Amino acid sequence: MDSSAQPGAAPAVAPSKSRAGRPPASAEGRRRLFPQATDAEWSDWRWHQRHAVRNLEQLERYVPLTPDERAGVQETAALFRIGISPYYLSLIDPEHPFCPVRMQSIPVRAEARIRPGELADPLGEDKTRPEEAIVHKYPDRVLFLALDTCSVYCRHCTRRRITKGGEAELSKEQMRRGIEYIRQHPEVRDVLISGGDPFLLSDTRLEELLAPLQEIPHVEMIRIGTRVPVCLPMRVTDSLARTLRKYAPVYVVTHFNHPKEVTPEAAEACERLVDHGVPVENQAVLMRRLNSDARIIQELSHALLRIRVRPYYLHQMDVAEGCEHLRTPIAKGVEILQQLRGFTTGLAVPHLAVDLPGGGGKVTLQPDYVVERGERETVFRNYKGQRYVYPEPEETDCSCPYDEVWRSRPR
Ligand SMILES: *Cc1c(COP(=O)(O)O)cnc(C)c1O
Ligand code: SF4
Repeated sequence: MDSSAQPGAAPAVAPSKSRAGRPPASAEGRRRLFPQATDAEWSDWRWHQRHAVRNLEQLERYVPLTPDERAGVQETAALFRIGISPYYLSLIDPEHPFCPVRMQSIPVRAEARIRPGELADPLGEDKTRPEEAIVHKYPDRVLFLALDTCSVYCRHCTRRRITKGGEAELSKEQMRRGIEYIRQHPEVRDVLISGGDPFLLSDTRLEELLAPLQEIPHVEMIRIGTRVPVCLPMRVTDSLARTLRKYAPVYVVTHFNHPKEVTPEAAEACERLVDHGVPVENQAVLMRRLNSDARIIQELSHALLRIRVRPYYLHQMDVAEGCEHLRTPIAKGVEILQQLRGFTTGLAVPHLAVDLPGGGGKVTLQPDYVVERGERETVFRNYKGQRYVYPEPEETDCSCPYDEVWRSRPR
């Protein structure tokens, strides 16, 4: 049998249009910063983990810091760790402090300032955390916190109470208890594995989590939240993709925030997942002066769709400690959506989500296209601001008579 016909094997396909012939984005930075790294090392994710920059002294060797960054590194030292993979470091613009890669990985002084109203646990997750590993906030789905480490520590991380360290990889006992909780709760049909970054687990450890979850009859789908395709794309090996495919439906939810991050390396990682039958979605976070512009969000969406990644959420920044300087006014996100909807592919328009401080959960926002709501008709303005009327139907009974048959079918 041809090996490509085995279940879980990726079909032999040419790289898609977006990738053909593009040189690696990290090439110039790699030559400048890590000239001694061999190709084998550069493509080995564990090498990147071992050589991640983790303190001021190391960072100064690679990036000429601004005084604000230098003070930021010192002042945040006790608050949240630094970690930047050589790959992500190679994408940093050494000359511009507003480089989006730089802003996401190097702290500034503002991050050390905790404002009144900012919360260590902005989404009130610890209130709905029946097990160490489980956040159960919504009726039919849970968040599974698998570990506390990441490939890059994002300066905008709002789960830093966990990622700042001290929780580490879940013990086997905590993992077992998390799985047991899900087994005991038949209403849970969707498990979102996050952390920290679950793709920093070995394929074997990941499988120890996926296999028992898949065996639970009421678990219909698994999602994995990860920044690995963005910050450590070499981790997405064929073996990882095959492992995920075995437990389908597994959706990967990744976290690109700026088109600069959609490099040929990141594209290869995402396309490898999709080629193996693992859909990839993206959640971006809106950040002031980093991506707070409709042109940037649109370019990000287009870049993602070209590599078969679907924009899912655009998040309003949580009210988390040290993140005030990155928050945008609520109106900015709505304005951005208004500049996308109708003007570009509908798939390129993410849901704008606000995760309510204190634990209320996510709500979505969108521009208001309704001008007037009448009993006989609704008046809209379209994306160009022109007025259109939608007449209401005469009959309003919306019950579905066949539903009784459908619900009582043998299952
Ligand atoms: C965001 C989130 C989910 C998933 O929400 P979706 O809207 O289904 O993507 C689940 N649990 C928690 C605690 C969350 O914050
Ligand atoms: S990868 Fe996610 S969990 Fe880790 S630091 Fe970044 S935002 Fe936080």
